[in-house]
Amino acid sequence: MAVLQKSCSAPLAHSLRSRGSIPAAALASPPMTAPPLLKSDSRYLVGMSESELRQVALDYGQKSYRGKQLHDLLYKTRVKDISDFSHLPQVFREELREAGWRVGRSAIHHTVTALDGTIKVLIRLEDSRLIEAVGIPIEDDKGFVRLTACVSSQVGCPLRCSFCATGKGGYLRNLHRHEIVEQVMAIEEIFKHRVTNVVFMGMGEPMLNLKSVLGAHRCLNKDIRIGQRMMTISTVGVPNTIKMLASHKLQSTLAVSLHAPNQKLREQIIPSAKSYPLNALMNDCKEYFKETGRRVSFEYTLLAGINDAVEHAVELAELLHCYSGSSHVNLIPFNPIEDSEYRRPYKKAVLAFAAALEKKKITASVRQTRGLDASAACGQLRNDFQKIPLLEVPAAETLLSSVRSTSCL
Ligand code: SF4
Repeated sequence: MAVLQKSCSAPLAHSLRSRGSIPAAALASPPMTAPPLLKSDSRYLVGMSESELRQVALDYGQKSYRGKQLHDLLYKTRVKDISDFSHLPQVFREELREAGWRVGRSAIHHTVTALDGTIKVLIRLEDSRLIEAVGIPIEDDKGFVRLTACVSSQVGCPLRCSFCATGKGGYLRNLHRHEIVEQVMAIEEIFKHRVTNVVFMGMGEPMLNLKSVLGAHRCLNKDIRIGQRMMTISTVGVPNTIKMLASHKLQSTLAVSLHAPNQKLREQIIPSAKSYPLNALMNDCKEYFKETGRRVSFEYTLLAGINDAVEHAVELAELLHCYSGSSHVNLIPFNPIEDSEYRRPYKKAVLAFAAALEKKKITASVRQTRGLDASAACGQLRNDFQKIPLLEVPAAETLLSSVRSTSCL
């Protein structure tokens, strides 16, 4: 049973890593200059690099080191309101506020803690929309806690995979860079522990919002200091975007959600797969490996009686051998959601599926369902709270316009 609460009670005694301190010395006020004209949606400080923040300081007639102070206030001290930037001159703070700058931190609307320590966080964005982020703590034998943040990249999702609560909830918009970064910051603050791993596997399809995802990835790596190899970007497959991602040569893992070993079944489970034949997707995965040297991992949600037979496993192994010498498959037993036509597979079927893959020399791991007691299918908690329906946008139309909007990368 879920434990509802407003603050964290996870059994983690660690505190946030030290990220340095803010210089305490009083600093002289620099000369005033006219604020620059910027697009309003770029006036969020969270997500900006140190050099961008130094430029903001210079643009307002401040010395460059004020940008470094801004960086520390955002990412080390975690100050959430410009009025509380007490180390900065009053005039600079006022100029920032008057020009419409905001820190870019949203309110925590609600948290739900599962018995295993997983915490789902509902964040209320500036436009009152709710998004989910999940913190998943795992303690190893030596007592080292790995804290994974599962973050959303869109408000809702236009792809409507048939088993997914987020897809059922509709789609509204892409998240901005700061709205992705702040999810990780919120999880660190709730757990009082640094996030060690980030997976872009929450609400939304990251490849439909690649520009913000890449911006957030940079910030999480350089400013929040999470290793690239500790991050995973997932996709169900959006035409032309894997090549785009490969060109950035990230050292992060690309996780491709297959959910079926052939095109026919895949289209049944993932309607958007109609626009991206399985062979083309697998070919792009092969090219991704050539370009980045990073193997693609594959996600496969097991749906009882639909795609969980041993024959499906054999067909999947053949597909993977055909395109990528060795592969790893993460098997995810379906997490039941309300009104779903699908059922959770039996443990026996899951083990038989994994064994069939191993027999064909494909390594597989079965993902433990975390937070099941917290009604925790992706998007489910948001749907419970966000009673106002999101905009209904035809999936195909949204898919195309979103791909067009990422082509500027
Ligand atoms: S599984 Fe992912 S891509 Fe599919 S509808 Fe859900 S959030 Fe969107």
